[in-house]
Amino acid sequence: MKEFDIINQFFKVQGVPSANSLPVKNSALKDSVVKSIGDDCAILSVPDKHDLVVSMDTLVSGRHFPDDALPGQIATRAFGTCLSDLAAMGAIPCWFTLGLTMPEADIKWIAPFSESLLSIAQDYQCELIGGDTTQGPLTITLQVHGIVEQGKALRRDQASVGDYVFVTGYLGDGAAALALINDEAANNAIADADKKYLDSRFYCPQPQIQAALNIVDYSRCAIDISDGLLADLQHVATASQVDIEIDVDKLPISLACKHLVDSATSLSFALSGGDDYQVAFTVPENHLPDVMRLINDESIAATEIGRVVKACSANNDYGVRCFDNGKAVLADELLIHNKGYQHFTS
Ligand code: ADP
Ligand code: MG
Repeated sequence: MKEFDIINQFFKVQGVPSANSLPVKNSALKDSVVKSIGDDCAILSVPDKHDLVVSMDTLVSGRHFPDDALPGQIATRAFGTCLSDLAAMGAIPCWFTLGLTMPEADIKWIAPFSESLLSIAQDYQCELIGGDTTQGPLTITLQVHGIVEQGKALRRDQASVGDYVFVTGYLGDGAAALALINDEAANNAIADADKKYLDSRFYCPQPQIQAALNIVDYSRCAIDISDGLLADLQHVATASQVDIEIDVDKLPISLACKHLVDSATSLSFALSGGDDYQVAFTVPENHLPDVMRLINDESIAATEIGRVVKACSANNDYGVRCFDNGKAVLADELLIHNKGYQHFTS
């Protein structure tokens, strides 16, 4: 099968999501795709008074997913991880492009991959508007585009002293899932339901788009927890020139994760496991009641885990400190596996 046949058969989507199916906030997006797949470039029209927010993620076979992962699993993982960055900015997902590199044009692989990708994209009303198809080792690159009301994007450099720190969902599931997938926890007997839950956290991460849209009026700073809570909050501390204090006894850890590993390991996973695709955000004291109301009426699932404080070092050395039931603890003593994922470290 040739490149253009693949594009036409599997990636050229018929039509834009109808205006009726768009939430009210998205109605400005009607007719925003002037030209989709088929020309040298897509042409997009950004609604008035909005900023365009763009992010790219690459998933390499054997590195970001096991070589034997199913095409549908790869599609939902690629889409979920990439959209998580838009969630972290408080953006509405709109369009995406796909860079697809495959060793061969195998319809048995491409068909379920495109079906899963286009189906999850439809769930988020995010339209595939272009891409590139090449031959080589299996690698999937997605570039997502979202919009946010001008000046309202949630940024890493906007944490302020006194803010409360929150995180959506559970922490540690990504690392627990990976331990299962890699058979590192094979001896730990857990129920099928827990296994299924953890597997879906890895292969079908749920980007916190709606939660982020719900808090966008009450927060100015957010980051997605893809490299591990401590590593990602460190980025916030550095960019915002503050210190951050975390109450490790408050970290939300799922029952499935607790069933799989002992409490010290689950805490270590929660602090530095990565692959969680949750959003950490900060809330100034005056908006605390608003966010607590959203949590109490179950509009968002989030937990308060700490505070933003004045930097205690004089030499631009901003950091994240841990407390356990009010007692200072060294993060190093809590991390019993690794410290947040970074490429090219060895
Ligand atoms: P060019 O030669 O200008 O790079 P291509 O031949 O690569 O263009 O692509 C032709 C059209 O198909 C373009 O609109 C491009 O965006 C789209 N396209 C190519 N590959 C993909 C893909 N994997 N998914 C979606 N659209 C694609
Ligand atoms: Mg091309």
